Amino acid sequence: MRLYDSFSRQIIPLPDPKTRELTFYCCGPTVYGPAHIGNFRTFLMQDVLRRVIQATGGRIKHVRNLTDVDDKTIRQSRAEGKTLAEFTSLWTQRFHEDCAALNILPPHVEPGAVAHIPQQIALIQKLLDKGHAYTTPDGSVYFRIESYPNYGNLSRLAERQTTTSSFPSQLTERETADEYNRDSAADFALWKARKPEDGDNFWTAPWGQGRPGWHIECSSMCLHHLGATTDIHSGGIDLLFPHHENEIAQSEAATGTTFVRHWFHIHHLMVEGAKMSKSLGNLYTLADVQARGHSAADLRYLLISGHYRQELNFTMDGLHAARSALRRLAKFYTLLGGNPHSFKANYDLPPPETQEIQRGPFARFWAALLEDLNTPAALGELFSIITPLQPHVAAGNYPPEEIPLIRGAFERVIYSLGLDLAEPKCDPPSEVKQLAEQRFTAKKARDYKLADSLRDKIQCLGWNVKDTREGYSLEMIPRNNLKN
Ligand SMILES: [Zn+2]
Repeated sequence: MRLYDSFSRQIIPLPDPKTRELTFYCCGPTVYGPAHIGNFRTFLMQDVLRRVIQATGGRIKHVRNLTDVDDKTIRQSRAEGKTLAEFTSLWTQRFHEDCAALNILPPHVEPGAVAHIPQQIALIQKLLDKGHAYTTPDGSVYFRIESYPNYGNLSRLAERQTTTSSFPSQLTERETADEYNRDSAADFALWKARKPEDGDNFWTAPWGQGRPGWHIECSSMCLHHLGATTDIHSGGIDLLFPHHENEIAQSEAATGTTFVRHWFHIHHLMVEGAKMSKSLGNLYTLADVQARGHSAADLRYLLISGHYRQELNFTMDGLHAARSALRRLAKFYTLLGGNPHSFKANYDLPPPETQEIQRGPFARFWAALLEDLNTPAALGELFSIITPLQPHVAAGNYPPEEIPLIRGAFERVIYSLGLDLAEPKCDPPSEVKQLAEQRFTAKKARDYKLADSLRDKIQCLGWNVKDTREGYSLEMIPRNNLKN
């Protein structure tokens, strides 16, 4: 398989996962609230990469961490009067539920930062011993960027600095929160000294009490579980700088060897053409999508349908199109004798026959995925393969002995994308149910004007209300503008 590497900025081959197990580290969620659909785009593309490697007969060890201690988790847990562990375990559970609904395979190891504090302290100590870090009078520890000449190679910092003054302005909220005491503004915190507002959330290190910085959490979990050099390290594109730049610096300064062979970054998700942001109120969660009458399966299809190196625009029409595409795939599977409701894209597939990937009926689909995980091209190939096949299979013109072979090959395709072909049970969102109930009451009171305006409101939300003998029923309005 070939995959774009953000460090070399080239599409380069991955090591052959059939000859040895690849190691794959993904920066996981900060568990202080529900993950939004932009986060899930990243986790889904990572899932597809893993599935493609597994489905084509390779082996991969997947580690995805949980950031369960940082400014936000501490602040929010204290605001809610919960211990940090109580608070983060609730959001971890919610994250796991969302991942399960979206058919994201659980990582083989899911380390939490709090459970790896000793490893983080040991790594910081090593950096102090080697002169790459220094303590400040308040008891914090910083990484000295000057001590690591390769700093900035991932994000091409030197180029950016000559054209813009992007360095200080790109410091994230996490970074700017700790801009004190350091020798150079670019130096980043490895350890943050205990502050009154941290409450009980501090640990004791040889240089004092406090807690680790976000970057060192990831590096130490990655080094601990996957060794000094990891094959693939991944996250959203917004993590490239400074998070991944800092991870490289502190890890390589400590180990003296290459931290990551291949950097895999997933680009932003837009919502209805706009950037996702708290202020625009468009940080949709899976629950928000479900409340609008769509399933996790629709969302998964939509979020993997764009190339991971391009921005993807999330729209409600896109979700309708996703549902329609899934229906077409389910219909094809049914024609092949499969049952969309019992097919689960989360079991362990047997390795493919030697010829299946390169010369089987879905060879073009695989070729697209194996060249830089091109999911839109792969989906295009998939439909261009099944569309002409479908009438032959439906008419019974296909040699019956070949049907199980195609069905098996098709199941591998569906597995690799993690699609759920079952027709979801779409419950009307509570807002629609309430409006329908109000309309029913208005009709009984013969207030037809109000009833009609409520019907319009319901239609605007994408539902039709029909009067029945028992009262009324709600049906989702089918969209006609669906092209695949
Ligand atoms: Zn990370």
